[in-house]
Amino acid sequence: MWSRKRFDIDYSDLIYGLGAALTVENSQRQELQKKLEDWWISDSTGEAIACLSVRSGWDLLLQGLQLPPGSEVAMSALTIPDMVTIVRHHGLVPVPIDLDPRTMAPDPASLDRAVGPRTRVIIIAHLFGGRVDLAPILAARDRVGAILVEDCAQAFTPGFRGHPDADVSCFSFGNIKFATALGGALLRLRDPQLADSLRQIQSTYPVQDSRNYTSRLLKYLGLKTLSSRAGFTALIWGCRRLGIDYDRLLNQSVKGFPQDELISRLRHQPCAPLLALLRHRLQGYTEERLAAQTHRGQRLIQLLQEYCPQIGVPGVAASPNLHWVVPILAEDPEIAIATLANAGFDATQGNSMTVVDPPETHQEREPRNTREMFQHLLYLPCYPAMDDTTLVSMAQALRPIFSPSLSQFSRMSSP
Ligand SMILES: *Cc1c(COP(=O)(O)O)cnc(C)c1O
Repeated sequence: MWSRKRFDIDYSDLIYGLGAALTVENSQRQELQKKLEDWWISDSTGEAIACLSVRSGWDLLLQGLQLPPGSEVAMSALTIPDMVTIVRHHGLVPVPIDLDPRTMAPDPASLDRAVGPRTRVIIIAHLFGGRVDLAPILAARDRVGAILVEDCAQAFTPGFRGHPDADVSCFSFGNIKFATALGGALLRLRDPQLADSLRQIQSTYPVQDSRNYTSRLLKYLGLKTLSSRAGFTALIWGCRRLGIDYDRLLNQSVKGFPQDELISRLRHQPCAPLLALLRHRLQGYTEERLAAQTHRGQRLIQLLQEYCPQIGVPGVAASPNLHWVVPILAEDPEIAIATLANAGFDATQGNSMTVVDPPETHQEREPRNTREMFQHLLYLPCYPAMDDTTLVSMAQALRPIFSPSLSQFSRMSSP
């Protein structure tokens, strides 16, 4: 069985992190943080801030901005649930911006409706590894004088530091992301004063417990072994024998912070070993490593279009697209998942993203396209270890599901 995902981290990185956990003192933390931040912006402009996670950075930014309660935050309608929870926590009103499933970019009409005089912040996520053209969004920002935050959590590529005109660009190195350090994030801000006030707030936070971080490194050493083909097959066999739902087990084991403690968990400074591993990973990360993933994604999409011409692939028209994940749309995702499981592929609907609800008093802002897409979304396993023969057999396994009669998504598959 091919597992849904391979963590983008090598055994040698995990060993490096464990080594750092044993040798790096927390007294070196500030120096490590400064070095990492200076390196991040060495070829670009602005200020860098290293955080525990993108969510920590988002919460930090909303504290620093001190917006009047009831201010609106226009957001890409598809994001991770915590990003929305954090907006509400600050007494602000999330307003979804509907997305065009072909590009995963904001739909122009919906952008127009979502951004108005009460909008103080616009946050746009580059989804699935594709990149959104920010030009129309920068125009909307300037029209209302808001702040534009670019969520690059799914769009890391070496050398990319975000759009130069975005006010804030954030990158995540959480466990399922490219170049993961099992946590950590980098923010780039244009406004030095805002950066100063965020640093000030962050410096009052307690430091992340490095023993917890060390046990996370050990846990992923185990999970990495289990996500190898043989390891994963054994895991599923074991779960079936024991009557455990492995889909739920896996979604739990890669889940972030528990909801109830979210805000207090987010408000920590990254510990020294995390900063050390993050710097090690970023400085050693090559274009080639990423290109291997991107090529697999491109090849799989090509095969899908060949074997299943009716298939919808969200973000297929995004450019550039790194194919961090390969999502598809199926009439009935559960049937597709079961079919793929029979053929030896562990596809998943995932439970890590959510559709942003419109404000209660503004149901007309319901993001219809995104909601519709989300109901049919599933992710295919796709990573460099899967060779061509393997990708072909996955595409073939999907063929019976995408018979021409189910052409409801065919609009999306044509280039
Ligand atoms: C992963 C992710 C985040 C959160 O990143 P963390 O560093 O885990 O907080 C935010 N937005 C998007 C779109 C993501 O994919």
